Amino acid sequence: MVSPIIKATGIDKYYGTYRALTDISLEVANGEFLALVGPSGCGKTTLLKILAGFEDLSAGSLVIDGEDMTEIPASARPTRMVFQKLALFPHKTVAQNIGFPLHLAKRPKPEIDAAVRRMLELMHLKESYLNRYPHELSGGEQQRVALARSMVSQPPVLLLDEPMSALDAKLKKSLQAELKHLHRHVGTSFVHVTHDLEEAMMLADRICVMRAGKIVQLGEPSEIYYRPANAFVAGFIGDTNLLPAKVTREGDAFRFACDVLDCANPIMAADQVAPGVAGGAEAALMIRPEMLRLLAPGESADCTITGTVNEYFIRGASIQYRIAAAGTEIVMDIPGTSTLPAKQGDPVKLGLALGDLFAVEA
Ligand code: ATP
Repeated sequence: MVSPIIKATGIDKYYGTYRALTDISLEVANGEFLALVGPSGCGKTTLLKILAGFEDLSAGSLVIDGEDMTEIPASARPTRMVFQKLALFPHKTVAQNIGFPLHLAKRPKPEIDAAVRRMLELMHLKESYLNRYPHELSGGEQQRVALARSMVSQPPVLLLDEPMSALDAKLKKSLQAELKHLHRHVGTSFVHVTHDLEEAMMLADRICVMRAGKIVQLGEPSEIYYRPANAFVAGFIGDTNLLPAKVTREGDAFRFACDVLDCANPIMAADQVAPGVAGGAEAALMIRPEMLRLLAPGESADCTITGTVNEYFIRGASIQYRIAAAGTEIVMDIPGTSTLPAKQGDPVKLGLALGDLFAVEA
């Protein structure tokens, strides 16, 4: 990274004797959108608060925008934080709320007015909202006003702590689009904590997966999704099948044996095996549900799975099947159709391309 806007090195955080963060090293590029994901309690909010200056770090160093942050209070940092529970000023109008940071900075009124209008436009809020009060807005609109206020002074870094978790699915989708739009039009770097993995995949340039206070993997969404570092990341990001397998090195490639899969030539390329899987180790083969397809009678594939339909869920654009095979349950997503290709109790044969397999540590 040429000159990262955020450079965290070896950060530890203790609450009393409890170690909430262990040796966190992380760089965020100028203008990057980074998503922080991980199970509840893994330390996402703690890390965000350390970046914002609301918590001290116990060890390590933090440089933001080229400056050591150790002695810099939250109010003087080049960061803004947007919380899950936003706090708009109830007795100020939308215009006064959005313009507040510039008002505090004693900017001239014409400059504040112009900046407020620009934010309004970027967040796709109507001009007629300017004189309304927060209670006269919907939850989604209030959230947009809060985002507009956090961005109006164009901070180099915006820290978002699950700003959409309280919204319903449809509102969330539209606000996600606004957020992406906003990110594209301002030079700000975003660090976004979310529980919603689809949201992380959709919005972020890179995803940082955390577990128990440590970074488990940091990479582009496709890397995290198709090349997870281990079974934890594979299972955490999206639905997945993890099948126990034996993987052994064979020249430049790897041979595998798995009770569930029937493959004519069970060989994987070296880049289909996670670095942690040493030859001969107990491994798991990751198969994403959408990589499986339903084979017609007589149709073949590199690998097949024979089983019986346990259940299916019609999800509109796709149908999810749960299939009993060799003592386990396989999840398969196929494109939605108006005629159901198989129903409960039907015997089925699934097909898979060898190139779609990926082996992780069991
Ligand atoms: P969630 O997804 O549920 O919001 P998180 O990943 O953001 O979780 P944190 O809020 O960072 O997790 O908390 C990390 C750990 O530190 C948790 O075990 C939490 O109980 C603990 N913790 C957080 N704040 C404090 C505090 N002020 N004092 C003591 N322990 C704390």
